[in-house]
Amino acid sequence: MVLDVFEHVTLGQRVVFGAGRAAEHVAAEVARRGAGRVMVVASPREREIAERVCARIEVGVWFDDVVQHVPVGKAQRARAVAAERGMDLLVSVGGGSTVGLAKAVALTAGIPIVAVPTTYAGSEATNVWGLTEDRTKTTGVDDRVLPATVIYDATLTTSLPVDLSVASGLNGLAHCVDSLWAPRADPINQALALEGARALALALPGIVSDPADLTARERALYGCYLSAVAFASAGSGLHHKICHVLGGTFDLPHAQTHAIVLRYVVALNTPAVPELAGRLAVALGGSADEGQGPAGTAVETLNRLYETLDAPRRLADHGLTEGDLAEAVSRVLEAAPPSNPTPVTRENLTILLRDALEGVTPSPGLQPVR
Ligand code: NAD
Repeated sequence: MVLDVFEHVTLGQRVVFGAGRAAEHVAAEVARRGAGRVMVVASPREREIAERVCARIEVGVWFDDVVQHVPVGKAQRARAVAAERGMDLLVSVGGGSTVGLAKAVALTAGIPIVAVPTTYAGSEATNVWGLTEDRTKTTGVDDRVLPATVIYDATLTTSLPVDLSVASGLNGLAHCVDSLWAPRADPINQALALEGARALALALPGIVSDPADLTARERALYGCYLSAVAFASAGSGLHHKICHVLGGTFDLPHAQTHAIVLRYVVALNTPAVPELAGRLAVALGGSADEGQGPAGTAVETLNRLYETLDAPRRLADHGLTEGDLAEAVSRVLEAAPPSNPTPVTRENLTILLRDALEGVTPSPGLQPVR
């Protein structure tokens, strides 16, 4: 195999898996770190899970003012509480919004995070933080926000409703797919991304047919972890730039937005990268080429997965309107990576967002099948 010249950075993190063992693993981690003043971050909806997970540790502060996309004001309040109470460890129990708030504290206070994820967003495995102010979401990279330890326990995710499990799992799949062509994509993060995609494409139908299936739930956690590791290494591609604008400016829900936009970015980009398209189609459970070329096969395989999952399809169902399109296109154009396999133009971006708004079934090159 001949590889391009590239530099790959692997982030240092302790990762612990064990269904039904989160409380034991959190207690061991707190003891190992010698932490005395623990601030637990969990939203009210996640509180019951957090109480179970933290049953064997002494908690100094419970902090539950969690809002999606981390508004700056909420971050400042959490930072002030952590400082006033002299906290030396953050334990986040919840989805991406919860770990996002813990990251905002870690960013300025330098306190380590032990993350116990309850969705498939994958934020726990990245050194990316996000904050929202004045309808604009800002993201940045800082190793201080990378959780020191991640504790995965599939039993904590069985309460995640099926529709949210699907959307969140497709958010994980979007990390995989964007990592194939993001600015720092390389053979290592592509391999992680494709294994993550394989795991998620197997796991999500299992969760839909039996939400209590711990094997499927654990496989989804494994896939979402790999997806986030690949994403942290490869950086934000076009897909993430689009979703940051839709979330930050139009306040669309994170997981559903990623789930919807993903198919259109795949349809736009795969004709320009046929080898990757074939590998993606195989990872998603298809063949490299089912007769319509690798790009057509990848898009078709993804469309079949969406049918099986009854996945979210239309941005219009989540608050975006036709009147928002022009501003969204302009904002995404400013951020679109120049390295995107298919050059991004106002025209193809407008088609992409309008199709995603209406839920048009995508086909390669965004030639819609109407
Ligand atoms: P979320 O954290 O907002 O959770 C969605 C809802 O599900 C919330 O109401 C939450 O309380 C509830 N929930 C979570 N776990 C549950 C469970 N097990 N059972 C029942 N309900 C549960 O959504 P998300 O999609 O996990 O995260 C979205 C946020 O994460 C966004 O702000 C996004 O920007 C951020 N994110 C950041 C990164 C990164 O690398 N920095 C990566 C992915 C996502």
